[in-house]
Amino acid sequence: MRGGDDEPPAPVTVGPVASAGDARSTSPLSHRRRLPPAAVICDLDGTLVDSRLDFQAIRAEMGIEGETSVLAALDRLESTDAARCRAILDRHELAGAMRARLFPGVPDFLGAAAALGLKSGLFTRNSRVATATTLRRCGLAFDRVLTREDGPPKPDPWAIHALCREWELRPEQVLVFGDFHYDLAAGRAAGAVTVLVCQDRPHTSVRGHELADFCLASFADHARVSALLRGLSPAPRLPAENGR
Ligand SMILES: [Mg+2]
Repeated sequence: MRGGDDEPPAPVTVGPVASAGDARSTSPLSHRRRLPPAAVICDLDGTLVDSRLDFQAIRAEMGIEGETSVLAALDRLESTDAARCRAILDRHELAGAMRARLFPGVPDFLGAAAALGLKSGLFTRNSRVATATTLRRCGLAFDRVLTREDGPPKPDPWAIHALCREWELRPEQVLVFGDFHYDLAAGRAAGAVTVLVCQDRPHTSVRGHELADFCLASFADHARVSALLRGLSPAPRLPAENGR
């Protein structure tokens, strides 16, 4: 499976995490105030849906060498080449949107969050068109959806800060769910509570797993999902989890 955010992190895009300059916001949960959750903010590809995007194939078609992030590479291209590469990325993303499938337990998870009165947000590095297509096809709805057209992409914490401002919430009241380094780095930099959704992979195999306050094998683990949404510490705790 290749999630839509499953690009290897490019050093140039990690800056906002390091430059946050706020020791509190980059600390594990044990060093932060734990507040009852008031919102969930979720990654899309690889977390809620499997769209089987293959970023190695996309990079190869674009002619991008190495493991550079596609979005970072696009920013550095000359305009003519950038237009060609954006068209390649858009085509792959739309194809991914058309074949996307919900992971088990996702509707129940979002339904439970709504039933508890939690706000819901989606933050993705995908385009607005591909995201809207995926959400429509999979029957998903969120209070707010932020795509790469809306602001700096993950791992920049911009989207989380923007939603917190809009909803008048503290980051500590937000649960960020993601399947990759970018999601967890953004959540940690913002000072939110981060949840790694492993999709039944060993959590240690996921890049950035050390930034997770909690791990979830799957949204089908309803007891664990319910505990997280209620601000409880689910048991048993996995070794990677920093929550207390
Ligand atoms: Mg992802």
